[in-house]
Amino acid sequence: MTYPLPMGRKFPVITVDQAKCTVPFLCKKCLQVCPSVVFYVSRVMQKEKRLEEMDPRVDGNYVLHAARRDKCTGCNLCIDVCPVNAIKIQMPAQEKEVIKPKGAQWGQE
Ligand code: SF4
Ligand code: SF4
Repeated sequence: MTYPLPMGRKFPVITVDQAKCTVPFLCKKCLQVCPSVVFYVSRVMQKEKRLEEMDPRVDGNYVLHAARRDKCTGCNLCIDVCPVNAIKIQMPAQEKEVIKPKGAQWGQE
């Protein structure tokens, strides 16, 4: 098994303003453009209406999640295509990985 990314990497913080992104199931522009498939849309489930079809044109029936922010490369394509400017992304400063000399973990220098 390989780990292509250094362990302890900090992930981007992706914020979706739900007050602006009200009908994500109709829009989906950020889902379509994201090369890393960071986003998904889910239905806002009400227990008594769980078997009913929900109209995607009604505000608040669906909600957008940035579930795979670990995959985000910071390309900003989603921000560029969003018609209501609902997405904000903060890329964290990454700490440099310190490579220990061979044997350092055993107390040998
Ligand atoms: S910045 Fe790029 S990779 Fe990250 S969520 Fe937006 S489109 Fe996807
Ligand atoms: S592009 Fe903007 S408005 Fe459209 S689903 Fe994504 S966040 Fe919501």
